[in-house]
Amino acid sequence: MEVETAVSFRPGELEVDSSGAGHLLGSRCASCGAHFFPVRQACAGCLGTDLEAVRLSTTGTLYTFSIVRQSTPEFEVPYALGYVDFSEGVRIMGQISGCDLEDIWIGMQLSLSVEPFGEDEDGNQLSGYRFRPTEAGSGGGS
Ligand SMILES: [Zn+2]
Repeated sequence: MEVETAVSFRPGELEVDSSGAGHLLGSRCASCGAHFFPVRQACAGCLGTDLEAVRLSTTGTLYTFSIVRQSTPEFEVPYALGYVDFSEGVRIMGQISGCDLEDIWIGMQLSLSVEPFGEDEDGNQLSGYRFRPTEAGSGGGS
């Protein structure tokens, strides 16, 4: 049986379990309860340094987005780049995939999606994250 090693495109930010499901890793301040992404060494709220690593929730609400029409050659344009608000109070930027650009709207529910991001120089498959429309919220049309 072949063991596939998925290497995170951004180690320390994205954790992928054996089923392929991904979780973003953040920090939670033990003093005031604030959450941060990516992982921080000190709390931006209370300056406490007692932070624990936590898995953030995997669905959030689109706060705002823009359509990118020019980029570096590795990225196929156009694509949508959005800020997604999570229930922990963190806002995370990421590419939106899995739907047409005209079907993206502020306030839509998005789910974290682990997707291939090419290979590293050793040939390992890289995994990164994007946000896709949440299945449950996509029924019912406009
Ligand atoms: Zn704090």
